[in-house]
Amino acid sequence: MTQKRAITIARGDGIGPEIMEATLKILDHAGAMIEPEFIDIGEKVYLTGNTTGIPDEAWESLRRTKVFLKSPITTPQGGGYKSLNVTIRKTLGLFANVRPNVSYAPFVKTKHPNMNMVIIRENEEDLYAGIEHQQTPEVVQCLKLITRPGSEKIIRYAFEYAKRNNRKKVTCLTKDNIMKLSDGLFHKVFKEVAKEYPEIEADHWIIDIGMAKVADTPQDFDVVVTLNLYGDIVSDVAAQVAGSVGLAGSANIGDNIAMFEAIHGSAPDIAAKGIANPSGLIHGAIMMLVHIGQPQVAARIHNAWLKTLEDEIYTGDIAKGRPSVGTAQFAQAVIERLGQTPTTFQPVQYENVEQSEDTQFRLAPSVTDRPKSDVVRQLDGVDVFLFNNEQTAELIGQKLETLAGPEFNLAVITNRGVKVYPNGFPETFTTDHWRCRFQLNETEGSGTNDAIINLLTRIQKAGLDFIKTENLYKFDGELGYSLGQGQ
Ligand code: NAD
Repeated sequence: MTQKRAITIARGDGIGPEIMEATLKILDHAGAMIEPEFIDIGEKVYLTGNTTGIPDEAWESLRRTKVFLKSPITTPQGGGYKSLNVTIRKTLGLFANVRPNVSYAPFVKTKHPNMNMVIIRENEEDLYAGIEHQQTPEVVQCLKLITRPGSEKIIRYAFEYAKRNNRKKVTCLTKDNIMKLSDGLFHKVFKEVAKEYPEIEADHWIIDIGMAKVADTPQDFDVVVTLNLYGDIVSDVAAQVAGSVGLAGSANIGDNIAMFEAIHGSAPDIAAKGIANPSGLIHGAIMMLVHIGQPQVAARIHNAWLKTLEDEIYTGDIAKGRPSVGTAQFAQAVIERLGQTPTTFQPVQYENVEQSEDTQFRLAPSVTDRPKSDVVRQLDGVDVFLFNNEQTAELIGQKLETLAGPEFNLAVITNRGVKVYPNGFPETFTTDHWRCRFQLNETEGSGTNDAIINLLTRIQKAGLDFIKTENLYKFDGELGYSLGQGQ
């Protein structure tokens, strides 16, 4: 008999405790060799004044056990509370969010009976870096950060996942027709990594039409890899069109630690009523068992769960007019079917899926292992952002023309990304936030930050109020910044 594996468990908020109790009871009856360690996180902890929602002893348990089964938690609205889910994913480096979406027709009603796709969402970067600033009374920004190592890691993970799980195609979703540098980098890395997996088909869709296709013809997708925000949205769309958000589980995988959960939230509207569907968390737990090297137990639970559906035992969210049972009765029905296999659905086997703890970790080169970059970076100019709610583009432009020299030329001024100087249109709406692009004067040779400091000093002395700067670089001779619309 294998030794029991310590795992960290959070019962969560809302329906969390009910679905966790149901899930743990099933794991126990199925013979899962686990030693639970319970931690308190979420609402209770927030309300003690801890704005992170997670106490130090919980971190200690997570870092020691390295495996986390988590019920949904409630993030209080307002009050400066940070999303605990985002904090946990980023602090523990859980870079891959793996979300299988399967339809279970005819037992779970859906318009898409043949759907079986896995969404692999980048979990740490993008707009979820949460770097936001109010820069002027009228303008706020949220930084979208996309990195080459982060993109490479998640994309390689998606191809490895496809290979190990006998999947045939990986589809990348981005908006690189608009965000040519950030989403463009993700798409570029996707094309590079895809070449290393010639046996797997690789394709790409722009996110808007790609998402529409997921909603309309999800059976055409196999594995999907995408950026954090798009992945967040597309995976809820996929779960919902499969039948219910109450069904799907997810894994959050890092180099050393992994977290398993349901995809839905704490459903406060049905909390403490004993009617929540525990299936999402059960699927999270099944993924956890595969991950910790207990695939037979995982398959036993999965097959019993499928048989329960086949026997038409449903919780309220999927009953849709048919008789329904509560959370505890549903769990009991699964327990009674442990050892049975489904007859309409294909029985599940995990023995052959090479996805155990040892192999699942370290699929991608660790960020610290990557080779030192020999890319040549050359300063090409600077964008100076001004706050100004008094003067016109023409006036600001004329002042800056004289302040630019000798190191720089004023190339363009944009407002919300649209050119307003020189030769702006009077129809263009402007705010109090001006991006003034200074291009390095070639006669000045290679630019340095000193030239930028001198320019800022001249701007300051002229009574203009700068609120931030962005250096413009060429990397190996290629522009590392986007042109302003109309530039
Ligand atoms: P939700 O997923 O909790 O609920 C959406 C709808 O689906 C509700 O009508 C709910 O009753 C239903 N539902 C969800 N899970 C169900 C289940 N297992 N069985 C039956 N019905 C189910 O989303 P929400 O209402 O937007 O969010 C509620 C809270 O959950 C918020 O505080 C949010 O921040 C949090 N949340 C947490 C997580 C997480 O911990 N991973 C994820 C999403 C939302």
